[in-house]
Amino acid sequence: MPEPYDVLVIGTGITGLTAARQALREGLVTAAMESMFFGGLVTNINDLDGEPGGSGSDVSAGLMMEISQMGVKNISEAASAITRDGDCLVVKGDAGSHRARSVIIASGARLKHLGVPGEAELEEKGVSRCADCDGPFYQGKEVVVVGGGDSALQEALVLTEFAGRVHLVHRGEEFRAQQHLVDRLAGHSNIQVHMNTRVEAVLGSAAVSGVRVRAGDGVSEIACAGFFAYVGLEPANEFVPAEIARDAAGFLQTDEGLQTAMPGVFAAGAVRFGYGGMLTHAIAEGEAAAKSALALLR
Ligand SMILES: Cc1cc2nc3c(=O)[nH]c(=O)nc-3n(C[C@H](O)[C@H](O)[C@H](O)COP(=O)(O)OP(=O)(O)OC[C@H]3O[C@@H](n4cnc5c(N)ncnc54)[C@H](O)[C@@H]3O)c2cc1C
Repeated sequence: MPEPYDVLVIGTGITGLTAARQALREGLVTAAMESMFFGGLVTNINDLDGEPGGSGSDVSAGLMMEISQMGVKNISEAASAITRDGDCLVVKGDAGSHRARSVIIASGARLKHLGVPGEAELEEKGVSRCADCDGPFYQGKEVVVVGGGDSALQEALVLTEFAGRVHLVHRGEEFRAQQHLVDRLAGHSNIQVHMNTRVEAVLGSAAVSGVRVRAGDGVSEIACAGFFAYVGLEPANEFVPAEIARDAAGFLQTDEGLQTAMPGVFAAGAVRFGYGGMLTHAIAEGEAAAKSALALLR
């Protein structure tokens, strides 16, 4: 049986990549497991807000290059379970099981669906999740963005570069986004904001043709070719054992050292309850989780 890894990181978004880099810097034998492609949520963000700035794919590619040169073991599999076997933790993947002395869960989060009729049926027929990738398809057309937080405003601003008009639909009275993003909206004549408004359905048969919205008692339609919902994230936690506590929305709970209720298993980044939400937090948590793992191993 091969020697267990000192640290096995699940997920290679910015948190996981940073955790792996820190573990390697500490001289730990480190593996990074990824079910899709490295980079996670930021992969398609061309112009990052806040530190470290630049494009998400450049930031993640730089980190990936660093950990490859430092000798990380890449495991291209989805984690489906974590169990204990004596002194070791065992992470089950698609192609086999992997033993480690500590595990850092950095499996992040996914964009939530709005859950209205038409949204699932018209996925990739005008229902999109990526403004930077799909924006060019809507050159000169009308699009609807749903949400009132940082992601919604940031992606609405990206879409102004392509779309003839961006309708930003928010169910609340005020945006929850950072003030500098709210301020930038005001400078765009092709953004139309619809506050106190809920999307009830995405309309269209072969492709998106509009959305039905409700504002108070009034129901109306907004014609559009593209639909982008940024209404929060849900944690990627399906493989996480029940003994690891979660909050009501499923985000993993940890102590101050980022250790979960399962000894030797840490959680960091967007999968964790209390995560700050920005890449600076992902980087800080990735490093902190690796340092906690090192302290435990020693
Ligand atoms: C639209 C949008 C725009 C944003 N823009 C900015 C910005 O401009 N600036 C900023 O600072 N922040 C931004 N953020 C926030 C930032 O992207 C996240 O906080 C950060 O990327 C979280 O990183 P993470 O590594 O914790 O999770 P993720 O990026 O979600 O990475 C998790 C990784 O784990 C993998 N994974 C999941 N389950 C498994 C499994 N079972 N087995 C193996 N691998 C698994 C996933 O495939 C993924 O690669 C934005 C977020 C969104 C949604």
